[in-house]
Amino acid sequence: MTTCKRGGCLFCDIYEKGTEVIYENEFFYSQFDRFPISPGHSEVIPKRHVANLQALTSEEWKNFFPAIQDTIGIIESTNLWEKYNLFIKDSVNEQSKIYCAQALLHPGLTRTKPDAYNHGLNDGEAAGRSIHHLHWHIIPRYFGDVENPRGGIRHIIPEKGNY
Ligand SMILES: [Zn+2]
Repeated sequence: MTTCKRGGCLFCDIYEKGTEVIYENEFFYSQFDRFPISPGHSEVIPKRHVANLQALTSEEWKNFFPAIQDTIGIIESTNLWEKYNLFIKDSVNEQSKIYCAQALLHPGLTRTKPDAYNHGLNDGEAAGRSIHHLHWHIIPRYFGDVENPRGGIRHIIPEKGNY
């Protein structure tokens, strides 16, 4: 088991601090991303410091998708307008303030809940992982947020998005 040094990992620290935690089960917790790429953008994170999916135990696997499902329920029942106003007041840095302000201007914020979701996991450095503690992105999507959403996550390799 990989353990995390106290104070050495953003996601271990966030769980320990507790104020950002919006959901938890025995093995996972969730939080709203402070740099939302769309309103409601959240992460589901194992409490144990593991870098990749292969490191999850069978018990953790069993609790993973329920955590994702429950987090979607929280996204859909949270007043995101209030949440991002709060994040701006209590911002982690200037960049976060800009992202949260953009979320407040997003036309999707006027809807009762997102229209759809992209789910994403950067499972390894070659896949873009920058914080080496597993985190599953839930990215709400809204009709009209991009001109043509067809292909979704296929666009991570831009020239392969259209097929
Ligand atoms: Zn960690």
